[in-house]
Amino acid sequence: MLHGLSRYSVHFAFATAVALLLSLVTTSPAAAVQAAGFAASCPAAGFISDPYGGARDHDGIDIANARGTPIYAVGDGEVINSGPAQGYGQWIRILHPDGTVTEYGHMYERDVAVGDHVTAGQQIALMGAEGEATGPHLHLRVRRDTSMSHGIDPIPYLAERGVVIPCTPGQRPGPPPLVYPVESGRVVSARSADGRLEVFAAGADGVHHAWQSQVNGNWSEWERLGGPGNARLAIAPNADGRLEAFAINGDTAQHRYQLSPSGTWSDWEPFGTGGNSLTAGVNADGRIEVFASGPTGIFHKYQNAPNSGWSNWEPTGGGPAAGLVKMEKAPDGRLEVFALNDKLFQHQYQVAVNGGWSQWEDFGGGGHDMTVNHNADGRLEVFASGPEGVFHKYQNNPTSWSGWEPTHGPVNAQLTSGRTADGRVEVFAVNGDVAMHTWQKGLNAPYSDWDNFGTGGTAITAASNADGRIEVFGTSQAGVHHRWQTGFSTWSPWDWVNSTSGPPIT
Ligand SMILES: [Zn+2]
Repeated sequence: MLHGLSRYSVHFAFATAVALLLSLVTTSPAAAVQAAGFAASCPAAGFISDPYGGARDHDGIDIANARGTPIYAVGDGEVINSGPAQGYGQWIRILHPDGTVTEYGHMYERDVAVGDHVTAGQQIALMGAEGEATGPHLHLRVRRDTSMSHGIDPIPYLAERGVVIPCTPGQRPGPPPLVYPVESGRVVSARSADGRLEVFAAGADGVHHAWQSQVNGNWSEWERLGGPGNARLAIAPNADGRLEAFAINGDTAQHRYQLSPSGTWSDWEPFGTGGNSLTAGVNADGRIEVFASGPTGIFHKYQNAPNSGWSNWEPTGGGPAAGLVKMEKAPDGRLEVFALNDKLFQHQYQVAVNGGWSQWEDFGGGGHDMTVNHNADGRLEVFASGPEGVFHKYQNNPTSWSGWEPTHGPVNAQLTSGRTADGRVEVFAVNGDVAMHTWQKGLNAPYSDWDNFGTGGTAITAASNADGRIEVFGTSQAGVHHRWQTGFSTWSPWDWVNSTSGPPIT
């Protein structure tokens, strides 16, 4: 608890320690002090018996549990204090590489000594009620740096580093989740940070969008956004959760972005000259990267830092002219780009995570459309359509591909793919006459025969609701239709997205 007086008495009692800390700081590179955090570990199991602040200006949080409950280092760092402390009974302080300090008090037993280097999640002590305490608990205090005499609220400090209190020790946050690219095309759909799907459709008069008014729920009316007419679209999330949309037609490329996660959108802003199609994906470090095709090949452009500004367009060393581009992601976070025109099918891939790109490599002959997805085990799989139906090709392992295999299916179809809640790939195809779908019969398994999915249309895309149900948007010259899974293998009828037809899509 460390009532009123002890905050100051502890500070004074350890003036010598503070002097030591200051010397440590001056020998640390400033960059390290300003570096952005680390992945934190749970300090102790227990409940919050006293929060930060309040009338007593409680400088820290109390996590209460039984005497002897293990206490763990919140992050990697150097032990800069370990010993008796007035008010605390005993304390431990750890200086982390980002310059912050975590401070642990009232422990019954200390397991580390000054100068020890600890790792996140390493046991450092056992919980006690030493010093001024009415029962066994951990008093956890956090300081922005060693020069601060008053701490900051540990709850947001830990949340920024991936730990929510109360927490379970031993469950360290994993690496940031892979964000697989969203299918690009005339109609695109992605989930906002709060789980609501949003759909964009490229009409002759510009882009229209609509959004779920609740998670897994109903849809808003269409809103006209303007921008390039008869565009091809792509969408990707920024590292902070804000969706960003890209549109290109023969004259111009433009983009717009949510002003806050799940929030309203900016106006269109220039993004480059015209082209044929584009695709967007997220690097392992959170930077969005966009590829676009034009008459002289494929170009790319990428955020210089997460949530930040953009590089210039750079050539990729070739690629099919005026083709379609799609992107996928390997399980290790490397992006891979596929490009197709009526004569040529090529791909290129990052040679390192967040890194440079391979040369373009031949991937097959020309075709009409393609979709790229990944198996549950991470192997990429590509479907391509042409005058003889739909063919597919899949990775046998991370570095080698099968040959092209026929799946039959509709000729010269527009393609999209989604993933079922249990991780199976499902492919949807539409041409002027018919819509059809095929699905993996098990994880990483072969596919069903093509089954009827509706009448003909002009474009198609699949997205997943927050609860895992696939929702498909199909366009026609009458507008934008959708249907959605009502269960693992059952679907709603086709319907308009809302009370109007939305833009006609050619
Ligand atoms: Zn306390």
